[in-house]
Amino acid sequence: MSGEPTEDALRPNDPRVSSAGAETLERMRAFMSDVALPRAAAFEQEHPDSAFALEPDGRLAEPVYALKLEMQQLSANAGLYCPHLPAPDGLGLGFIDCMHLHEEVFRHGLRGQQWALAWTEGPSPLVRHWSPDARERVLSDFLGGREAVCFALTEPDVGSDFPALQTTARADGSGWRLSGEKHLITGAPQAGFAQVFARIEGAARSELTCFLVPLDAAGVERGPVQQTIMADGQTSGFSLHDAYVDKGSLIGRKGEAQSLAFEWINWARTRRGGMAAGLGRHCVDATVDYAHDREAYGRPIVELGAVSALLADMVIDLEALRALSLELLGRLDARGTALSAAVSAADRRDISILKSYCDDALYRIADRAIQVHGGRGVLTTTGLEKIFRVARNLKIPAGTAEVQRAIIARSLESTRSDRL
Ligand SMILES: Cc1cc2nc3c(=O)[nH]c(=O)nc-3n(C[C@H](O)[C@H](O)[C@H](O)COP(=O)(O)OP(=O)(O)OC[C@H]3O[C@@H](n4cnc5c(N)ncnc54)[C@H](O)[C@@H]3O)c2cc1C
Repeated sequence: MSGEPTEDALRPNDPRVSSAGAETLERMRAFMSDVALPRAAAFEQEHPDSAFALEPDGRLAEPVYALKLEMQQLSANAGLYCPHLPAPDGLGLGFIDCMHLHEEVFRHGLRGQQWALAWTEGPSPLVRHWSPDARERVLSDFLGGREAVCFALTEPDVGSDFPALQTTARADGSGWRLSGEKHLITGAPQAGFAQVFARIEGAARSELTCFLVPLDAAGVERGPVQQTIMADGQTSGFSLHDAYVDKGSLIGRKGEAQSLAFEWINWARTRRGGMAAGLGRHCVDATVDYAHDREAYGRPIVELGAVSALLADMVIDLEALRALSLELLGRLDARGTALSAAVSAADRRDISILKSYCDDALYRIADRAIQVHGGRGVLTTTGLEKIFRVARNLKIPAGTAEVQRAIIARSLESTRSDRL
């Protein structure tokens, strides 16, 4: 395969990137090479194998969590942590710009540098709906990468069918008392706050209300870590026992938070394009290198037909998911409604196609990368098995694979005039 065009030559500059996006991408590249990757390498020297590094109670090991906070803060100080948020909270970049940033960050794998970008328990578009009081109290630490704020929708008895959630809110003076149980919440073992979705007593299905809740408040009890396939100690539940929050804790308007939940969920789904493109590219690059270096039966394994077919399938998946993501994110940028109450059936369809395709394609890519690496593929030291475990998980949060298919199928009727 030597003499073939390089990966960069296959990827001409994308004319859809805005000038602010291009400038931010350059800064992110420099941040990765000058700051984030050297810091990740130094950490790996100090902690040679931290793939399953956990505290005795199952939380992410303190040194790894400290690296996460440090990476967030270094990125925030460089003005790169929240490119997706509108000014003044962020850089106001669109989906295509953010996809390139995500790809740039994730193409280095999962070495800790990925925490340079706000993620699930980081600043999301929901901060626009926070009260002035909540913004005053929490936002500066949140945007600065010093604080985490979970998104707490799922409950033990309701996941996909979240409009049926059972957590209740009862008016008490000028504030509220919350009762219920949340589970599978990313960041809950260590975060300071959660955006909790509840139903005001007597409200109908889907009439949800969202509150910013300090997780150390009286009446809030964190549950044990719920260890997932990712073994990262980042997921747990918590229960609310008549926990009091003041009126400034209300996020958005009473009874109208279902659209906020979808705003967050759609934001999370759209991120899959750049993440899958970056991690996929990391797998492809590592596997191409390995297939050239590793010899079997007197020749590099890349010359074995079965191995080259695995490589080709990986590249087909990578190029397809990347092209599809850019096309769909471009449509979302053009419509401008995906992260608002005016989200359309076409937006929902495109977001669900993107999430489904990227999740499945990255899973196949990571699986094949491991296969070409043979026994080394499943060693934690290669970093590939972690990507595989993360890729497997992706098919569940932010809407399962089946829910995405249901959305796509449902959208077909209302988008008949907008044929694919
Ligand atoms: C690692 C991880 C992190 C998470 N982080 C968060 C978080 O930060 N915040 C949060 O609120 N939640 C979080 N979740 C929860 C996640 O969003 C839910 O697990 C997910 O929405 C599915 O809900 P469920 O687990 O209750 O499964 P269920 O909804 O009970 O689904 C069970 C099965 O039924 C299928 N199914 C359900 N409804 C339909 C339908 N309409 N059509 C077709 N099939 C259907 C599903 O696809 C699945 O196969 C996280 C989950 C995981 C695993």
